[in-house]
Amino acid sequence: MKAEIPKTYNPQEVEARWYQWWESKAYFRAAEHSPKPPFVMVMPPPNVTGSLHMGHMLNHTVHDVIARRKRMQGFNTLWLPGMDHAGIATQNVVERELRKEGLSRHDLGREKFVERVWQWKEEYGGIILKQIRRIGSSCDWSRERFTMDAGLSRAVREVFVRLYEEGLIYRGKRLINWCPRCHTALSDLEVIPQPVDSTLYYIKYPLKGRENAFVEVATTRPETMLGDTAVAVNPKDERYKKYKGEAVILPLMNREIPFIEDPVVELEFGTGVVKVTPAHDPADFEMGQRHGLAQISVIDENARITEEGGPYRGLDLAEARKRVLADLEAQGLLARTEPLKHNVGHCQRCHTVVEPLLSTQWFVQIKPLADEAITAVEQGRTEFVPPNWANTYFQWMRNIRDWCISRQLWWGHRIPAWYCDDCGEMIVSRADVERCPKCSSGKIRQDQDVLDTWFSSGLWPFSTLGWPDQTEDLKAFYPTTLLVTAYDIIFFWVARMMMFGLKFMNDVPFKAVYITGIVLDAERQKMSKSKGNVVDPLEICDRFGTDAVRFALARKGAPGTDIALSEDDLDSYRAFATKIWNAARFIFRHVDESDRLPTLSELKQSDLLLVDRWILSRLARATEEVNRSVEQYNLHEGARHIYAFFWHEFCDWYLEMIKLHPERSKPVLLYVFESTLRLLHPFMPFITEELWQNVPHRGESIVIAPYPELDPELLDERAESQAELIQEIVGKVRNIRSEMNIDAKRTVPLRIAAADPELTRLLSDAREYIFKLAQVSQVEIVPQLSGGKLAAQAVAGGLALEVPLEGLIDVEAERARLKKEMEKAQRQIDTLERKLSQTSFVDQAPKEVVEENRRRLTDYRGQVGKLAEGLKRLG
Ligand SMILES: [Zn+2]
Ligand SMILES: [Zn+2]
Repeated sequence: MKAEIPKTYNPQEVEARWYQWWESKAYFRAAEHSPKPPFVMVMPPPNVTGSLHMGHMLNHTVHDVIARRKRMQGFNTLWLPGMDHAGIATQNVVERELRKEGLSRHDLGREKFVERVWQWKEEYGGIILKQIRRIGSSCDWSRERFTMDAGLSRAVREVFVRLYEEGLIYRGKRLINWCPRCHTALSDLEVIPQPVDSTLYYIKYPLKGRENAFVEVATTRPETMLGDTAVAVNPKDERYKKYKGEAVILPLMNREIPFIEDPVVELEFGTGVVKVTPAHDPADFEMGQRHGLAQISVIDENARITEEGGPYRGLDLAEARKRVLADLEAQGLLARTEPLKHNVGHCQRCHTVVEPLLSTQWFVQIKPLADEAITAVEQGRTEFVPPNWANTYFQWMRNIRDWCISRQLWWGHRIPAWYCDDCGEMIVSRADVERCPKCSSGKIRQDQDVLDTWFSSGLWPFSTLGWPDQTEDLKAFYPTTLLVTAYDIIFFWVARMMMFGLKFMNDVPFKAVYITGIVLDAERQKMSKSKGNVVDPLEICDRFGTDAVRFALARKGAPGTDIALSEDDLDSYRAFATKIWNAARFIFRHVDESDRLPTLSELKQSDLLLVDRWILSRLARATEEVNRSVEQYNLHEGARHIYAFFWHEFCDWYLEMIKLHPERSKPVLLYVFESTLRLLHPFMPFITEELWQNVPHRGESIVIAPYPELDPELLDERAESQAELIQEIVGKVRNIRSEMNIDAKRTVPLRIAAADPELTRLLSDAREYIFKLAQVSQVEIVPQLSGGKLAAQAVAGGLALEVPLEGLIDVEAERARLKKEMEKAQRQIDTLERKLSQTSFVDQAPKEVVEENRRRLTDYRGQVGKLAEGLKRLG
């Protein structure tokens, strides 16, 4: 019985079949105890609210190619999946749901609200995990984790308490970024600077005790002047030396504030005098600390003016600005205004303008942690791929500031600190606290805040393995081998995992960090909802096949390089899958149940034909190239080698050549095809499993079959050069046939000049291939070519050959045809040359049009050259 597969390749049908079976067979499950070497990656946990986008698709393709190859190579491979609770993002989603019911989270209260979020998570969260299966990602689902799992929550508390005990976590009143909409503190990274058209206002501040003497300060936020506690100039600024030690009267508030000098004041900005508002500006906050200035908060958490704002209290910021400006104007203190474009920080989640506010929050003193993480990368204990990303990492790490980790949210890990209402004691504890250890009071409150989401994801490489317990998994799988991530979360995530890993595990969390680019549209534009150019990965997987999408991403995605993905790319890799399918159908025509996969030693012992030795040698080289490339994380090179081998050598030549002797070559054919499927499997998991199951093979699934390794004994330089010579001869004859317009149905004679007896023997052995592939009727081997007229000559691999044309073509008609073609081409050349010599055209027409014309001119000139060649052949 012959193996059979459907005539047409239907990726959807094939792809639906395998994943569940793989999962049920636990092929992706890493062993707790294994003599095999470990290979470990943790998945960047997608948000529980997320759904698959092209960034994930690229990230997962890279992960999966690497994981599947390592598994096949015999590593105890763990790719650990999971999700992030995504504090602010998830809370926002559930709050939106509630709003539809006319409720706010405050109507529910904290406990009920958190319950509701869990409920939402069970019902709607984790769609992405199903989508991840759809694209073939071979993760170990038995080890799936969630950042709010009991185990991971315990790790979070442990880390918090230890850092607190070492003085690396502290609570303090600091200037932080506040989102008035989300009502929470944000870390510096969650604040996105965006350019805004604004106005620079010049305000006159009267000098105390001097008649009609003012300094002018420039500000984009006049309403914050209510909280000014100084004005400052650069100590090098000669213009204001005379006011040193004096004071000014703050307009509208009539407060006396000092005139100070500080080197951070820019001489060129505005008038060189700046107002200092320590409670509402980060630079001013630091200046205030240096000079012992008071901090007056005039803006509250709802972005309204506080009691401290005197007559403006209660106003929102826009209204306050209007009133402040009107009052200044009325008093003649608004000197002038000028337009200014500058960056204003916006909330990463809701895009509201972020307010710098003084607030009591929790912070990580980050410098000591950062120093170690810098050293680890300097020493090469963790390497970046490509290496230039290490610079980005260093730059941020060397300028790092304390990390504000408390968030005024309800969804997240609640800060493990308790306060005693009776004696004011603060207790930081691993276990919940019910009684004050100092005064035994039961009036105990837990801190209301939760931790920044990135606090728990920073522990991901070890919290997921069971830390703080010394589990078997932790021993077996930490440090992990490789982290694959996009460059936009190097700071949010990679840097924090480095710091926490070194601190709590005494070792780097991963040995290498592979940075992916981002996926752009075909015009190299960033995908965005507003541009309407967002590509849905599942939609293109349905249309082109998941294997084709994965192959396209692997083929185009060099490390750290952005990918412009077009439908043409997807089309061409769908065609690749179809090519594989059709090759399999050809093979299946010659296979029956009694056929089995030969071993390599069987092949080596048998008497192999030249083409068989050639294809085995080429397979060995492709195997070597693919392994070398993927091992160095150059998946794009690996994909290129497989594609070239399969399409241009195996299909274009080998399958065509063995049509002459399919039975004789069957063992090699089966061996090469089966090996190629294994070589390709990490890139195209579905189609390779489908076909592998249908060809003779050893084992249960291609997922756990061995990955091909180079066997140097298969390399055969001589077979390669001989087979290539025959291919070149065939190629030259095909060229002559097409240039001379020889009827496709007619065969031609071929004369080759060869004196070397070995060559003569080769050509005579190989003549059947030449007959078949170039439609040659006879090969005559001569010591020298006749040089006669009416013969088309060429050189292949150093051999001269000729195709006698006599009787094959009507010489007169062919000559006339060639002449006519030449005239036609020449007319085109004239027209194009005329056009391109006109400056009016070259300067005014769109660049692409000019380029297109130039390209056509080159084409026509080439054509004329070829036609002239043909004419010469006719004598
Ligand atoms: Zn916000
Ligand atoms: Zn107490």
